Amino acid sequence: MTYTLIDGKKVSADIKNEISQKVAERKAQGRKIPHLAIILVGDDGASQTYVDNKVKSCKSVGFHYTMMRFADTISEEKLLKHIDHVNNDDDVDGFIVQLPLPPHISVDRVTEKIRSDKDVDGFTNHNFGSIISKNPLLMPATPFGVMELLRRYNIETEGKHAVVVGASRIAGAPLSMMLTEQGRATVTICHKFTKDLGSYTRSADILLVAVGKPGLITADMVKEGAVVIDIGTTRVEGPQYPKGWAIQGDVDFKAVAPKTSYITPTPGGVGPMTIASLLLNTLRATELQHP
Ligand code: NAP
Repeated sequence: MTYTLIDGKKVSADIKNEISQKVAERKAQGRKIPHLAIILVGDDGASQTYVDNKVKSCKSVGFHYTMMRFADTISEEKLLKHIDHVNNDDDVDGFIVQLPLPPHISVDRVTEKIRSDKDVDGFTNHNFGSIISKNPLLMPATPFGVMELLRRYNIETEGKHAVVVGASRIAGAPLSMMLTEQGRATVTICHKFTKDLGSYTRSADILLVAVGKPGLITADMVKEGAVVIDIGTTRVEGPQYPKGWAIQGDVDFKAVAPKTSYITPTPGGVGPMTIASLLLNTLRATELQHP
């Protein structure tokens, strides 16, 4: 079967162009330019790379941004106080606290401290719950990016059987809710305790995988003509890779792609969409606070 590669890099670039135009319009009208703040605790290398990419993206669309760095020895109390300060800073429209955090800091307490109308990662309970309300607020960035990819490739979800593998708070669980509410799909959620995973994945019209186990989804687990969205990103090391490592998804791409109608590559599929969603959320937060 010939399949269509879902090009997340291109869609993300299109979204950034659209955002740049809106920022230019806001500027011309004398309205507030979106301002994203990024809180980074510690010096984890991967987090630094993610944050650098976010800063680069802010610059490319004309957003203002502020980097706020803290040593990994900062107490939870101090970090919560700082979050309160940003919550009350009228100049900041949206902010994120880059994960992971040091083990002595509770991710739940930090997330719940963030004002929901500034929560551009879409992680707070308020924004999470709004997925199933009539008025969805700021959507969790990765699932939002996936829904946007499906929409922009005109992939019909209504009445389809969507199988989501992985049920985490940031990826699988909100994605399942968005597919049900906004996509009107019939959704099956699989996780670590699912027995005979293939018996579910084989019945998927749309298979979405967010686990972090390279090669988990093999060709015999995919229905002919299915749409496959691979969210997993794992850094795999080996001498065969020019850089000594490569990013791999959860799907055995080479074997699975020929069976599909649409499939995301890794890298270059869902990854670039997460930052595009963060920018869309920041623009939305600005529009809500400074219409
Ligand atoms: P996570 O919190 O570790 O969640 C993984 C989920 O997969 C959990 O629900 C887990 O079940 C489930 N699981 C584990 N083993 C399984 C198995 N054998 N079969 C079926 N389900 C299984 O990870 P995450 O944060 O959601 O991230 C998942 C992957 O997506 C990672 O590779 C991550 O790097 C990637 N990711 C990529 C982006 C992006 O921008 N591209 C964004 C977010 C995440 P239990 O809950 O029962 O343990």
